[in-house]
Amino acid sequence: MQRNLRGTSRSATDVPADLFARTAELAAQWLRSLDRRPVAASADLDELRYRLGGPLPVGPADPLMVVEDLARAAEPGLVAIPSGRYFGFVIGGGLPAAVAADWLTSVWDQCPGFYACGPAASVVEEVTGGWLAALLGLPVDASFAFVTGCQTAHLTCLATARHHVLRAVDWNVEELGLSGAPSIRVVVGARRHVSVDRALRFLGIGRVSLRVLPVDGSGRMEVSRLRDELATAGPPTIVCAQAGEVNTGAFDDLDDIADAVAGTGAWLHVDGAYGLWTAASPALRHLVRGVERADSWAFDAHKWLNVPYDSGLAFCAHPDSHRAAMTATAEYLVQGGPGQPRDAMDWTPAFSRRARGFAVYAALRSLGREGVAELLERSCAHARRFAAGLATVPGCEVLNEVVINQVLFRFDDDRSTDAVLRRVIDSGEAWLSGTTLDGRRAIRLSVTNWQTSDSDITRALDAFRTAAAELLGRGPSSTENDRKGPFLT
Ligand SMILES: *Cc1c(COP(=O)(O)O)cnc(C)c1O
Repeated sequence: MQRNLRGTSRSATDVPADLFARTAELAAQWLRSLDRRPVAASADLDELRYRLGGPLPVGPADPLMVVEDLARAAEPGLVAIPSGRYFGFVIGGGLPAAVAADWLTSVWDQCPGFYACGPAASVVEEVTGGWLAALLGLPVDASFAFVTGCQTAHLTCLATARHHVLRAVDWNVEELGLSGAPSIRVVVGARRHVSVDRALRFLGIGRVSLRVLPVDGSGRMEVSRLRDELATAGPPTIVCAQAGEVNTGAFDDLDDIADAVAGTGAWLHVDGAYGLWTAASPALRHLVRGVERADSWAFDAHKWLNVPYDSGLAFCAHPDSHRAAMTATAEYLVQGGPGQPRDAMDWTPAFSRRARGFAVYAALRSLGREGVAELLERSCAHARRFAAGLATVPGCEVLNEVVINQVLFRFDDDRSTDAVLRRVIDSGEAWLSGTTLDGRRAIRLSVTNWQTSDSDITRALDAFRTAAAELLGRGPSSTENDRKGPFLT
């Protein structure tokens, strides 16, 4: 027993029901505050260090007090990412069922690496993997892994690719490593995501091994150049295509790329971090035509599916190579063979890890096939409406063809673009991230959150209209700017 600061006694094994009830209350308060609070954090670095810092306490403290203090101290440093007006990077929110299942995941505390450690966690991953393959039109017998995010999914898929293409030239990379190995050629587009390069680097495949192909104005790989590259019989080859460029949302022509790769022995990997989800919508599926012809796919559940962080998925069309690249065994471990329950350890680079399947399962069950499609289509409709609205803001130029949920735009010049963005963020009305495209500053909007509503889009547009009018000295083109201030609700 310990004496805590509230003067009550509690042993470590008491179930603190009041703690969990109060935590649920704090969570509900946060969710209720989203419409009213500024989207950006309000505290700066110094303030947060002051609020959260100090020496490590010597003695124990009451858990309830710890959680209350943490919530209070962190609050001004929280970004309202779950709000429908957070449009930064490509970041989803959390569907209610997924958040709740994620809470249970912590409480249940299963270790899903082995069936023996968490039978339900293991079977939920097996079921969910099958659902995902069906939903996205991937091969039904594809192997899969629940990982932390698309970065780790790349690592998983590309380790599998490395195994596969080297084995084809009689090099067992798990046994022999890379020193003395045949070199590997990796063909990528110029606008690939940086996480691809990093995964390759972790795998001992450095920049010298990359063949970087030019892209068109939207960022799509020029497939004629891929054909040229593959025409020369080269070393073992991995091609990385992309479904959903991070700025413009552009899609490589996967069918054309699969044609170019067919028969060459090259491995085709797809970065579909968020864009792969379009395969789940009859209206959007054409964007990823041919995607099922790839050898591996990396994507996220924590972006467009709106599962809380962290949650990514790796799928491979060659289960034997996948398992060979990932598995590990030791005498004390309990792994099944063929026909036995699935041990996730055989498919992921992790050993112990979170039971991520529960939240993905809950998200998919709560939406159903139609709900996923509706979420995707709704996000795209919001993005189109935002782009159409921006086109009426004086001084604003939309830079991309809005193919999915991404809008890229800028104002008169770099200085104005940055200043308008800063003003909007400071207004608390919306949060968007900036980027540099072809040497010029731009603003990115990503509608990835299930919560985003028509009125969120209206509020964000109004914020841009007002900021542009104030900073660029041009009258707004509508009367919406004389509405009440953002936080008067
Ligand atoms: C976000 C993103 C990644 C990286 O995914 P994480 O989940 O952050 O690891 C890779 N590729 C693209 C296109 C992305 O948008």
